[in-house]
Amino acid sequence: MSDTITIALTKGRILKETLPLLSRAGIEPLEDVSKSRKLVFPTTADGVRLVIIRGTDVPTYVRHGAADVGVVGKDILLEHGAEGLYEPLDLGIARCRLMTAGPVGWVQNGARIRVATKFVNIAREYFARKGVHADVIKLYGAMELAPIMNLADLIVDIVDTGNTLRANGMEPLDEIASVSSRLIVNKAAMRSRYKGIQSLIDSLGAATETQ
Ligand code: AMP
Repeated sequence: MSDTITIALTKGRILKETLPLLSRAGIEPLEDVSKSRKLVFPTTADGVRLVIIRGTDVPTYVRHGAADVGVVGKDILLEHGAEGLYEPLDLGIARCRLMTAGPVGWVQNGARIRVATKFVNIAREYFARKGVHADVIKLYGAMELAPIMNLADLIVDIVDTGNTLRANGMEPLDEIASVSSRLIVNKAAMRSRYKGIQSLIDSLGAATETQ
């Protein structure tokens, strides 16, 4: 097992776009991951296995070396930090934008604003940089609800089509960062398994270019 390369994948929307990329790189799970409750999957590639977990857990597994490599959204890396990790490849999948958003026509009247988000570090840093006094409120989901219920003035959230915002009477305001999924690598594994990991980076890089 010591030569096995373990790839931690983010489940959900990112996984759907990651699997075709892995397949073009010659890595396919031996069973249909969408029909299984398993979390660890052997693959068609010798010595490569997949674990499928929440995005916020992917950097943790890779940082501690429990997985050698991971696929995770840039939003998670910006929010939770990327110490102990290499980020050699932008996979160009699951593209979206991290944005501020507010009720249509909202204008600031008052010295402070209240901002609801699950990206509290990104939000604090962003408003501090703009010189805006923001009280940041942590939520775990349905950020759009916060202004409707007068819990917050603005939100910081991921925007793809903008449909979720529009459906809740909100509009996108400023772009904080553009987001896509990244390949991350454990720094020690990069040294100790250089050949296997570099060849994985090369084949995923080639698969990314032919998207
Ligand atoms: P949309 O209505 O298309 O703007 O999608 C917005 C919602 O979908 C956001 O609140 C996110 O939770 C989710 N979402 C869209 N794209 C992504 C992505 N690439 N990664 C993670 N979540 C996403």
